[in-house]
Amino acid sequence: MNKQGGTLIIGAGPAGLAAASELAKAKKELVVIEKADQVGGLSKTYTFQEGEFIFRTDNGPHRFFSQNPYLYQFLSTLLQEQWLEVNRQTRQYIDGKFYDYPVRPLQALANIGPAKALSFIYQYVTAQIQYKLLRKPIKNFEDYIIAHFGKGLGRFNMINYTEKIWGVPASTIHADWAKQRIKGLSIGLLIKATLKGFLQPLKTRQVRSLVDVFYYPEYGTGLIYEKIKSQLIDQGHQIYTNSHPTAIHHDSKRITKVMVNNSGVEEVYEPDQLIESIPIESFLKLLTPAPPIEVQEAASKVKYRDQVYLFITLDRDQVTRDQWIYFPETKIPFGRISEMKNFSQKMSPLGKTSLFVEFFCFKDDEIWNKSKEELLELTMKYLEPWKFCQRSEVLGCHLIKQEKVYPIYDTNYQDYLSIIKNYLNQFSNLYYIGRPGRFRYTNQDHSLEMGMLAARSIIDNQRYNIEDVGKEQEYYERGIWKK
Ligand SMILES: Cc1cc2nc3c(=O)[nH]c(=O)nc-3n(C[C@H](O)[C@H](O)[C@H](O)COP(=O)(O)OP(=O)(O)OC[C@H]3O[C@@H](n4cnc5c(N)ncnc54)[C@H](O)[C@@H]3O)c2cc1C
Repeated sequence: MNKQGGTLIIGAGPAGLAAASELAKAKKELVVIEKADQVGGLSKTYTFQEGEFIFRTDNGPHRFFSQNPYLYQFLSTLLQEQWLEVNRQTRQYIDGKFYDYPVRPLQALANIGPAKALSFIYQYVTAQIQYKLLRKPIKNFEDYIIAHFGKGLGRFNMINYTEKIWGVPASTIHADWAKQRIKGLSIGLLIKATLKGFLQPLKTRQVRSLVDVFYYPEYGTGLIYEKIKSQLIDQGHQIYTNSHPTAIHHDSKRITKVMVNNSGVEEVYEPDQLIESIPIESFLKLLTPAPPIEVQEAASKVKYRDQVYLFITLDRDQVTRDQWIYFPETKIPFGRISEMKNFSQKMSPLGKTSLFVEFFCFKDDEIWNKSKEELLELTMKYLEPWKFCQRSEVLGCHLIKQEKVYPIYDTNYQDYLSIIKNYLNQFSNLYYIGRPGRFRYTNQDHSLEMGMLAARSIIDNQRYNIEDVGKEQEYYERGIWKK
């Protein structure tokens, strides 16, 4: 593509690259610009060299799952034999004990003991009376969880973990967050699943769902995006990393011109179509002329949670068999630890392993400003006594900081988001997609779908509804039954 016409795609995460791939298949002209030095966005895979050893890690655990068979087809064609099926093991660590995740009620009951179990049941019944019988309204995330699970169980592993992720009280988070993560999950469903486990004949019990297994690229989830990038380059398309827009001009109806800083060189694009997946409020700030005041005010209310990660490489064969473990208790400073070799052996050298430790924080708070040495110290204070690993086994550690990781769904978010979206929807050649682009807590599948839908809208000259992608809110751990 020269700098006039065709489609300009800003952001080479899953959403942007899926759009590029689909457009390329239809032989459309396109250019991708990405501000980072590597493609993949939050789904990239990092490589770290420790002397002669190479370790790989994703930006947190990335299991692929989807309700959409087209995506499985797309990815298995792309990755071929590098698309591995992985037996899942994930747990929670609470009060010095491991609990399977998703929860197995009998194991959970055995772990918590009869006294706590009875108090959980009492609080569940109380909540049923309050919310079902007396019709107490569900105003926020905390209400939703208490109404469905009772205060005791809700606080045990859902409300506290949520407050840890978001850094705000659960009563200020929109109930949509619960709907997105756990809709369809209930005490009734858990009891039914347990009884089914007892009553099912042994043979049919072995049928596994996509909760028990998942797919994973052998060199990390970023392999998907590196492969799409290679294919695009082979087809003659340009993907520029270290490139970002500096201004986006419009005439109120169309995007007319995009000024780009491409590795320090100023360039001007006049694309027919613009697809972008940069944070929604950052995009608004680039618009020239600026959006109306009420849109700017709405944009100022958009907030995210940031993350700091510590990647620890270890001279030890394995720590656990888990892909990841959650730590919901608020007194523990990190929220989740992943062991990448349990996704694919290729993520660590033979006889060595690694841990990816996630801290939830706000940019510039105490955790954000800690050095990697301080974070290692803080982490080892827990891992050593728990006998996860020893200080003497640490080969190295690496600090990664990521801004705007989790869109915060506060109780008013739909109001200001709809002002922003109504404004953006007036541009006939603009497609804003992906997790940052639509301020939506998507996983890879929904970002890929949004990208594909934006591309299909251009190819078919007919706007498909990107807003509805991923609206099938249901308990996301339920998975689809494998044939
Ligand atoms: C800790 C963690 C665990 C996760 N686990 C899973 C999981 O198990 N399974 C799963 O499917 N998903 C998981 N996800 C979600 C997954 O990472 C995201 O859904 C996915 O990466 C979103 O893709 P995207 O393209 O919408 O956005 P992003 O990945 O955010 O990509 C946006 C891209 O735009 C670029 N960009 C931003 N601003 C500009 C600019 N001004 N100019 C140019 N480029 C710009 C960014 O650098 C980035 O490359 C997880 C995410 C995190 C953080």
